[in-house]
Amino acid sequence: MGEPIVELHHVFKSYDDTVVLDDIDITLEAGKFYTLLGPSGSGKTTILRAIAGFLNVTSGDVVIAGKRVNDIPANLRQVNTVFQNYSLFPHMNVFENIAYGLRIRKVDKAMIETRVMDALKKVRLENLANREISELSGGQQQRVAIARAIVLEPKVLLLDEPLSALDAKLRKDMQYELRDLQQRLGITFLFVTHDQEEALALSDEIFVMNDGKVQQSGTPVDIYDEPINHFVADFIGESNIVDGRMVEDYRVEFNGKVFDCADAGMRPNEHVEVVLRPEDLDVVPVDKGRVAVRIDTQLFRGDFYEIVAYDDGQNEWLIHSTNPAPEDVELMGLYFDPEDIHVMRFG
Ligand code: ADP
Ligand code: MG
Repeated sequence: MGEPIVELHHVFKSYDDTVVLDDIDITLEAGKFYTLLGPSGSGKTTILRAIAGFLNVTSGDVVIAGKRVNDIPANLRQVNTVFQNYSLFPHMNVFENIAYGLRIRKVDKAMIETRVMDALKKVRLENLANREISELSGGQQQRVAIARAIVLEPKVLLLDEPLSALDAKLRKDMQYELRDLQQRLGITFLFVTHDQEEALALSDEIFVMNDGKVQQSGTPVDIYDEPINHFVADFIGESNIVDGRMVEDYRVEFNGKVFDCADAGMRPNEHVEVVLRPEDLDVVPVDKGRVAVRIDTQLFRGDFYEIVAYDDGQNEWLIHSTNPAPEDVELMGLYFDPEDIHVMRFG
């Protein structure tokens, strides 16, 4: 474990009777890219505001660089925030936007010049120091917002859905840039998004949020391959989730058959949910399949066929198959490798 830079210990936040953060317990290590991922209203922005010092938590400890900061005002925490709308000052040029925080901290003039130009170089905007904000593209404005935050040399940069206003193409470019920037700067990033693909692509570690709780934390691969509950399996990627029953360790029953699986540790007879990802399923002749299905629809998606099928228990199966199902055969087989079966506790 690396050096912890931000810790939230049993943090709760309520407004009147509504609990919006429910026992948040997370640790961010120095120099990593973290993401809070969850639907709107799940508490992501509230976590950032608790770390930045824009709100008081109801209970629990907020710790930055080993010091409890619950009573330390925002401007004295070693944290900066990049907001969704960037909050740049429209009447100042690029240089002045970035210099602003240093001026109010009474840094001397020569030092301001050096630090602002250094920040501009880091975001590759050194040629635009004298531009007006209104003359910048969306991507350039975002880089100014980041430069303005990093010029203050925070230990942690909080980024609240900074990409959500951008169009799809620019958004993808900015994903590469953000990841690259975080690695070059070596500052801890805590990035917020409701977009699961973005979270998977960028993060060292993801915290999946719902209802004010961290549902699961882990690397993108862990969370994708081994979702802990129905919410995570459904929210991250596409999933087939069917009811099952644990027979014994590494043996699960669903669709009336017993399969070997990769998971252990549940009670025999325990009611479970079985997850199979669409890309792990193929459509084969019925006698070669593990589950018989009726094909309902089939769409060509370029690099795969998206097939929707139903088994005789009326479970719906979403399949991303490299081969199309034949048009004239109604009953087909669903094929998967038992290694790809993932079992979760029910609920
Ligand atoms: P997210 O960023 O994940 O969309 P937020 O952290 O903004 O979610 O909000 C979490 C919940 O807290 C929401 O239900 C929101 O309505 C509520 N909330 C946020 N700020 C306040 C506030 N100042 N007063 C009352 N409720 C609030
Ligand atoms: Mg938010």
